[in-house]
Amino acid sequence: MRASVYTLSLAALLSATVALAASPPSEFEKGAGSVAKRLADDALSRKQHARNVILFIGDGMGITTLTASRILEGQLKGGQGEDNRLSFEEFPQTALVKTFTANQQTPDSAPTATSMVTGWKANDGALSVSPEVPETESDAAKVAPFKLETILEQARARGLATGVVTTTRITHATPASNYAHTPYRDWENDSQLPRGATIGDIAAQLIAQQKTGSGLDVVLGGGRENLLPATVSDPEYVTRKGKRRDGRNLVNEWVAAQPGSQFVWNKAQFDAIEPAKVQHLLGLFEPSHMRYDVDRKEDGAGEPSLAEMTTKAIQVLSKNRKGFYLMVEGGRIDHAHHAGNAYRALTDTIAFSDAVRAATKLTDVKDTLILVTADHSHSLTMVGYPARGNPILGLVKAPGAKDVTRDYNGHPYTTLNYATGPGFGVTEHGGDEAAARPVQPGRFVDLETVDTQDEGYHQESLVGLASETHGGEDVALFARGPRAGLVRGSIEQNEIYHILRSALGY
Ligand SMILES: [Zn+2]
Repeated sequence: MRASVYTLSLAALLSATVALAASPPSEFEKGAGSVAKRLADDALSRKQHARNVILFIGDGMGITTLTASRILEGQLKGGQGEDNRLSFEEFPQTALVKTFTANQQTPDSAPTATSMVTGWKANDGALSVSPEVPETESDAAKVAPFKLETILEQARARGLATGVVTTTRITHATPASNYAHTPYRDWENDSQLPRGATIGDIAAQLIAQQKTGSGLDVVLGGGRENLLPATVSDPEYVTRKGKRRDGRNLVNEWVAAQPGSQFVWNKAQFDAIEPAKVQHLLGLFEPSHMRYDVDRKEDGAGEPSLAEMTTKAIQVLSKNRKGFYLMVEGGRIDHAHHAGNAYRALTDTIAFSDAVRAATKLTDVKDTLILVTADHSHSLTMVGYPARGNPILGLVKAPGAKDVTRDYNGHPYTTLNYATGPGFGVTEHGGDEAAARPVQPGRFVDLETVDTQDEGYHQESLVGLASETHGGEDVALFARGPRAGLVRGSIEQNEIYHILRSALGY
């Protein structure tokens, strides 16, 4: 029976190909072609070890965010949108991922990232330490027994090149989980540590590794302020200073630690980096987080896109014959959601999809496992009965209707809303939480005359909160490459570590 099904699928694929030349394939033909491709992918994804693994994490990129982003991207390209696909939606394997952590039903980024890179569920705030350690423990000797080794550290110990790329500060929870061990995610620089603490702050932990002679090969993102002393001005914004109180300039320490180390902080310097000539690349493009993708054009010194950073990272890491481990985070999808600004959450998701596409083009499916997932969801919902092609950021309008759909009070409403958060507002910088004020949760605004597709529009919310909250439902995991076949069914988030480990043959 298998053979006949396979033959049927191949025949359908052929007819789909023939149809492509004449007219676009129907959805029936596209479906048949997709199944035929899966049969071929199956053989590859169940065998072999991977030489390289790339873990892509869209911070807060829940399934509603995926659906809405793919529609927005399709509509920006001039289509109806629903039939569009984000780059990783073409991957052959998927799973649903349960995101609860050691002490949270709806989780935060520190323990979810920890579970993916160490194989253990952790407590809120904890970065790659087990739940036995209290959040307030700043004694290095008391934390040491509870450190959880990360997949990055294991790859490095076996001679692989390693890298971390993000749009947030490089000391933020998700990237830091790969290389730091601390019970409290907010200890990013020494001024944030309690008095008498002996545990290194997150930035100091990063630099300490460079001095051991191994360290990371690529670190790209934001967060200069946590590496620069309070006496030194930021290179881009001269009125701003670093945040370190210990007087250390960790940027200089990075450059001095090992031969072939370089630091860049603007787009021109980044573009000038020749991958063949750099061994340890540190790029920090903002004092704090990098800008949202739609706001990058406003940066005077220029910032690379997530796709450009991913490309450069792979070019540098690929020089290692043993292979590489790379984590790439689309970190600000989460921040735009917290601000209740779906526009920037969706456009940052599209930029994240572009970064995954760049990675698939630069690597070989036969030797590189790519996983794409989210650490947790958000309270974004997609509702009403809008017609096909209705603007995803617009008001709900039913198929064939002359007017928008209205609620009890005769007011229109949007397809996208949040269950929690600041609520209604239109501000110039929609993704900035502070800019979202004054806030107006609930259904008090008549949206009749409001442009809800404006990039500064903040969706209405049911529960009024200064910061919209994470969502606790499952997230999606997409995979392609060796061992991608392990990605199927419903899995626990910490299984992602074990999939990575299996793919690398550890
Ligand atoms: Zn968050």
